Amino acid sequence: MILKNFKELSEYLKVPRNIVIIGHRNPDGDALGSTLGLKHYFDKKGHKTQVLMPNEYPDFLHWIPGSKTVYRFDRQNNQCVKALSKSDIIFLLDFNALHRVGDDMKNTLEKYENDFALIDHHQQPDDFTYMYSDTSMSSTCQMVYNFIEMFDDLDLIDEDTATCLYTGIMTDTGSFRFRSTTSRTHRIIADLIDKGAKNDRIHSNIYDSNSHSRLLLLGQALTNLKIYPEYKTAFITLSQNEKDENNYEKGDTEGVVNYALSLKGIIFAVIFIEDREQGIVKISFRSKGTFSVNKFARSHFNGGGHDNAAGGKSNLSLDDTVANFISLLPNYKQELLASYEE
Ligand code: 5GP
Ligand code: MN
Repeated sequence: MILKNFKELSEYLKVPRNIVIIGHRNPDGDALGSTLGLKHYFDKKGHKTQVLMPNEYPDFLHWIPGSKTVYRFDRQNNQCVKALSKSDIIFLLDFNALHRVGDDMKNTLEKYENDFALIDHHQQPDDFTYMYSDTSMSSTCQMVYNFIEMFDDLDLIDEDTATCLYTGIMTDTGSFRFRSTTSRTHRIIADLIDKGAKNDRIHSNIYDSNSHSRLLLLGQALTNLKIYPEYKTAFITLSQNEKDENNYEKGDTEGVVNYALSLKGIIFAVIFIEDREQGIVKISFRSKGTFSVNKFARSHFNGGGHDNAAGGKSNLSLDDTVANFISLLPNYKQELLASYEE
């Protein structure tokens, strides 16, 4: 755990400030929940707070309290630049290095001499003026709860804040089942319910919002599933054509990789998703036990993340990316077979 210049930060925030809070590119439940949860808290403390996101987020996250106030850097560039120019301090949530907001936004952010404050649970964070980094945390939302507790302000968590933080903890822990879920996570969740988070409604808003075409896309993904039992590995591919045929919308492939990981005996699961617009194949890696997909993604696919959940990309074609991936597996045979399975 790194806690850098926290005392200075708490002094700095004793008077009202103009604060900008930023989440990562392709924001997920934790990115949106943590940035908006922190915003609700800061607003209550008398600060002026604006949340910026690099690009769009899936429909199933649009109901989150405060989401309508978010400016998107790719669409509302002027508003974003104005907010940044006015800001006293910039908070970076749920990512560990500036490039995770994308090149355009990174180049803009680098022009500002503001102090940056990081709150994040990813490995190997870059250095910023103020830091709260802890890779053992289930989610950045859990860290925002801790952060509010460090200010002795838990009683300022209202229903909106509780709803935001509950959402990110739920999505980043796979509904409280990943290894990162501790008794402390459950205690925080219990407190957030006491403070007004409607757990059944939040779950339903996130997980019961499938379109028919999303289920058909899932059907295609499962049809494409390939299993390599000798490496305890399974992977899924989705080509751009398959996405187009099933009216793909952002967020439709979220969680699909977990079906590959749900196979008995499989400890390494991957999904390769062709993105013609960006000219890349976007890859999600998941593992069980000691096999680190963070290391694997960093070493071979220009990515990173956590030990058991990471992402990356490839500039090769979908077929060549998959062929490259398969050619790497023999090098990891021992590690894969040694990783425990549940
Ligand atoms: P997902 O597979 O759900 O997109 O991402 C899983 C985890 O890996 C997340 O914590 C995410 O922040 C991280 N991640 C995803 N894609 C990338 C990437 O391209 N680079 C890095 N460094 N991390 C990524
Ligand atoms: Mn997260």
